[in-house]
Amino acid sequence: MEEKTIKSLKAEIRKLKKLAYFDELTGLLNRRGFKDAANKFLHQISREKKGHRRKVTLGSLAIVLIDLDYFKKINDTHGHDAGDAALKHISKIILNRARDIDLVGRWGGEEIILGLVGASENDAELVANSIRERLAKNTLAFHRKKIHFTLSAGVSCSGGDIPLDKMILMADKALYESKYSGRNKVIKYSNLTK
Ligand code: GH3
Ligand code: MG
Ligand code: MG
Repeated sequence: MEEKTIKSLKAEIRKLKKLAYFDELTGLLNRRGFKDAANKFLHQISREKKGHRRKVTLGSLAIVLIDLDYFKKINDTHGHDAGDAALKHISKIILNRARDIDLVGRWGGEEIILGLVGASENDAELVANSIRERLAKNTLAFHRKKIHFTLSAGVSCSGGDIPLDKMILMADKALYESKYSGRNKVIKYSNLTK
C-alpha cells in the first residue's frame, strides 16, 4: 500500500477512535472509553498485588459517581440548550480539579463518573466534595440568566479485588443514599448501613 494511503488510514482510525471513546458534548470519555481505561487500571493494580512491580505503583482505584440534582427542571425552565451548557459547565469544573491521570467520563445523560487512580475512599470523598462545593458556589451564566444547580455523588474504592461493574454498583448505592437523604451531598459506600 502507498505510504500516503497508510497515513490517511491511520488518521481515519484516530478519528474513529476519538468518536468511539469520547462524548461529543462534553469532551469527556464516554461510557465505553471510561470502562476500557478503568479496566486497564484495575488489571494493572491486581497485577501489582501479585508481585508484578513497575516504576509507578497505582495501588488503588476509587470511583465517584455523580448525578446532577433536579436536572430535568433546568431543561424545563430554561430550555435544552441551557441543560447542555450546564453539562459543559460541570465538566469543566471537574476537569480543573482532576489530575491528568484521573479518568473522567460521561456515564449517561446527566451522570458523570470519575476514576481516581491511587486514591482511597476518603481521598475520593474529599475530591468529590470540593467539586460539589465549587459547583454550588459557581452559578452558570446562560444568556442573561443565572442558573444555580447542585450535584449528588456516591463513592467506592478497591485495591484491585473488586470488578469494575461491582464498584460502580457500590458507588450507585451510595449515590442513591445521597439523593434520598436530601441531595447536594457525597456519601461513601463504606458508610452505608448494609
Ligand atoms: P434527580 O435530582 O432525582 O436526579 O432529578 P433529575 O431531574 O436530575 O432526574 P431525571 O432522571 O428525572 O432527569 C434527568 C434529565 O436529564 C432528563 C433528561 O432530559 C436530561 N438530560 C439527559 N441528557 C441530557 C443532555 O444531553 N442534554 C440535556 N439538555 N438534558 C439531558
Ligand atoms: Mg440521573
Ligand atoms: Mg439527576
